[in-house]
Amino acid sequence: MPFLFAPPAQAVLPIDGEKDLYFPIHRIYGVARNYAAVNAQLGEKTPPSIFLKPADAAVYAPDNEMLELDFPVATDDLQHEIELVVAIGKGGKNIPVEEAMSHVWGYASGLDLTRRDLQRASVAKGQPWDTAKGFDESAPMTALKPASRTPDNEPMKLWLYVNNQKRQEGTTAEMIMSVPEMISYLSSLYELKAGDLIMTGTPAGVGTIHRGDVLEGGVQGVGVLKVKFK
Ligand code: MN
Repeated sequence: MPFLFAPPAQAVLPIDGEKDLYFPIHRIYGVARNYAAVNAQLGEKTPPSIFLKPADAAVYAPDNEMLELDFPVATDDLQHEIELVVAIGKGGKNIPVEEAMSHVWGYASGLDLTRRDLQRASVAKGQPWDTAKGFDESAPMTALKPASRTPDNEPMKLWLYVNNQKRQEGTTAEMIMSVPEMISYLSSLYELKAGDLIMTGTPAGVGTIHRGDVLEGGVQGVGVLKVKFK
């Protein structure tokens, strides 16, 4: 097929333990306000809401190695949200909750970086969250680990330290919408495809990141990411 110009590179994440095999990213879905404690922190009782980040917002953060990122533009309140990322290996529409886990290929640890000031302004005006959530390099993630090598039937612990101080801690048992429920729900709104990633929400303790901060966090049994903002 002749293109007007070279098509953009396929966004990918590496696969843990594989040297030359990559997971091609189709879309990145986000589930917001999915942990009970965060809703309480925000003083809200709203059901989880859905947003998207572009596939190329994903940045690979090698396990336990420092990833240096430029501080994002256009924000005075960049915030961290440590999250379990679910990778879809088999697509579908209207997937029943009972079958949802068979669509999961694996997991990553991810950061849903958020320009909170822009989000607050959007929420106040009833406007979409795109500029708050979908900016460049807004989704640092570890390599994907196959579900067969992760304890995916029990609650997973998540944590995040900023400059060696604990900021976030929780488990996936605190989710309002469970992983199978969110797969089923998303598949009622969109046709899910192999290559989709779902950022599943963050436990309590989100906060502001400053230039020079070092973040270290992850999901137990999945991967550890370390990010420094220049
Ligand atoms: Mn989030």
